[in-house]
Amino acid sequence: LAGINGGVVLTEKTDIQSLNWQELTEYVQQTGQKAFRGRQLYQWMHKNLVQSFGKMANLPKSFREELEKNCTLCRVQAAERQVSSDGTGKYLMRLSDGNYIESVLMKYKYGNSVCISTQVGCRMGCRFCASTVGGLVRNLTVSEMLGQIYEIQRITGERVSNVILMGIGEPLDNYSNVVKMIRMLSDGHGLQISQRNITLSTCGLVGQIRRLAEEKLAITLAISLHAPNDTLRQEMMPIAKQYSISEILLACQDYFKKTNRRITFEYSLIEGKNDSGTDARNLATLLSGLNCHVNLIPLNPVKGRMGKRPQRSRIEAFQAILERNHIKVTIRREMGSDIHAACGQLRNNRERDDLTLL
Ligand code: SAH
Repeated sequence: LAGINGGVVLTEKTDIQSLNWQELTEYVQQTGQKAFRGRQLYQWMHKNLVQSFGKMANLPKSFREELEKNCTLCRVQAAERQVSSDGTGKYLMRLSDGNYIESVLMKYKYGNSVCISTQVGCRMGCRFCASTVGGLVRNLTVSEMLGQIYEIQRITGERVSNVILMGIGEPLDNYSNVVKMIRMLSDGHGLQISQRNITLSTCGLVGQIRRLAEEKLAITLAISLHAPNDTLRQEMMPIAKQYSISEILLACQDYFKKTNRRITFEYSLIEGKNDSGTDARNLATLLSGLNCHVNLIPLNPVKGRMGKRPQRSRIEAFQAILERNHIKVTIRREMGSDIHAACGQLRNNRERDDLTLL
């Protein structure tokens, strides 16, 4: 907005829900209010999850009006929801600029898990993935990442206990917003989701993994490995041309040393591509001695993208080889198999402009 109207500079409104506890306190004090007003405001936004300043009953009316004038409250709105028979809910979320992202709610015995997007689109280009089709549009703000969790908690009325950064986007390509968001989720002032219940999945950006190790977060790091050697990985993931598997594994060892958190390796199985017995044995050799866990993901085939899903027996044979070689391994439970499968497909398939907001 700056610079329009012949030199009259209009400043943009503050995205107040992206401010952390300390920043918000400072902001509120700058406006001439007492610090405790910041605590009240934070609570309305990040605990009570209200969506308008008008509802913040214990704030003075003049302060609410000032906030209304100078700040925005994040709007992440569920535009479409598909609920499967097992309770999994897939949400197409509309952002205030009209972009769409996806979030997924999964119900487990131990609680509700929400999988969130970190970017609009993605620039990593993995050949089998639906999210990367139109490239990267932009990073999500802190409030847009939190907003996905808040919207789902508002709609379901149930507490979210686990958060997974595995939706659309590459979390470590939106590094500072993602780290700030994780701290705000877990720092005790907001939803208080323990860092142990947060998982971040990355295609393996080595520099950022090393930087993340220094943050000393207790989150689980998941690496999208998908292949036991660089040649095969490069055919599936362009990013593999930039970082070798051995560089990634060294960064993982360092991450484990600094955080004492066991690493998860994701391995999406594609028929005839990376699912042979030899691939399984090579993977076992590669990971032997690492304190890790392998999560096998049967491919969700995406129209126009690489690959088919292997037969169940082949997936189980792959798992058995890893187990025989003392690698801890699970096959990702199929959730929501009766609704739109792979992440990114809902966004790609959406029909423009004719969605009614929930
Ligand atoms: N950018 C992050 C998060 C991506 S999504 C990352 O690369 O890790 C989470 C996982 O799903 C990743 O392991 C990703 O490679 C995998 N994935 C993407 N598309 C898939 C598909 N169609 N079927 C199975 N797994 C897929």
